[in-house]
Amino acid sequence: MSTGHLTIDLGAVGANWRSLNALTSCETAAVVKADGYGLGAGRVAAALAKQGARIFYVAVAEEGAALRTALGDRAQIRVLTGHMKGDTQLLVDHHLTPILNSLSQIDRHFRDLPDHPFGLQLDTGMNRLGLEWDDWAQVAEPALRRKPVVVMSHLACADEPDHPMNPYQLDVFHQMTDGITTPRSLAATGGMLLGSEYHFDECRPGIGLYGGLPFAAARPVARLDLPIVQIRDLTEGEVVGYGNSWQAERPTRLATLSAGYADGLLRAGSGRATLWAGSQPCPLVGRISMDLITVDITDLRDDPVSLSILSPDQTVDDLARAAGTIGYEILTSLGARYSRRYAGEATRFGS
Ligand SMILES: *Cc1c(COP(=O)(O)O)cnc(C)c1O
Repeated sequence: MSTGHLTIDLGAVGANWRSLNALTSCETAAVVKADGYGLGAGRVAAALAKQGARIFYVAVAEEGAALRTALGDRAQIRVLTGHMKGDTQLLVDHHLTPILNSLSQIDRHFRDLPDHPFGLQLDTGMNRLGLEWDDWAQVAEPALRRKPVVVMSHLACADEPDHPMNPYQLDVFHQMTDGITTPRSLAATGGMLLGSEYHFDECRPGIGLYGGLPFAAARPVARLDLPIVQIRDLTEGEVVGYGNSWQAERPTRLATLSAGYADGLLRAGSGRATLWAGSQPCPLVGRISMDLITVDITDLRDDPVSLSILSPDQTVDDLARAAGTIGYEILTSLGARYSRRYAGEATRFGS
């Protein structure tokens, strides 16, 4: 079997949710958009529901429909992109709660589903989703009379604790919402770490659940082991891979592994990423190709059968650094070809 093995530690996901929940005295939801950041929204959400999570966020209604099948009736599922044209039946059939972002979404929702639950998003400066001041002034009163489940906004710079945008958005959110009785929510993972004044009534962590920064205390969740297909010896001066981009400067033992950029090993990590034999690093050499990578294993005492690229020794953020990106992109790029295994909820990875 030449597919990589992706192991997802649901026990660690649960532990990360409990640790984040313990930082606040408010409701802790869970963001499982993009198939649970690539790790499986249904499995992740079911595990978190057992830990006590009651509110789940997805990006689009179709994700919500799939999640409803996995979760049954027990949880509230909210859709961050709101109520789009064509969503109405999905929202009804799967009991999804849209977070309305604009006057046109509010009009559509109140017209088509006047008795269906909804939330509201306000823009406090990120200029991505949500009602601006003028819109809000116009609809706040009639919309709040219909009892939204939440009024939320989103922080643009929460992963930089000292960024002046954070207190600025906090102040705008207060100005837009002080005095209302609807539950309020501002913080995702980064905001939760900024302090209790950012917590309001509900927090919405995503990346921290999956072991990513800025939640530095997170337990790693994803482990990825890649099988070695072939091993060869190179003499000094031989070249490796497309474009001859790497040349052996010493006699080199080279392993070819089954996984490439089609599996989410971003090509930008060519010549920079590191594979691991247990706790011993082995440099990736040459270009990452579609289905294969090449790794210098000269310094290992024995030939391994596989090497790991995500493990307690190399987190998603470590790998992201090598590819010039963020842990979020590493996780959500994880390929469909890997064989996936969900570790039992009591299981921990050894190191
Ligand atoms: C993605 C997202 C979150 C979760 O953010 P993390 O940084 O992954 O914790 C929360 N709220 C909104 C509106 C989002 O888009």
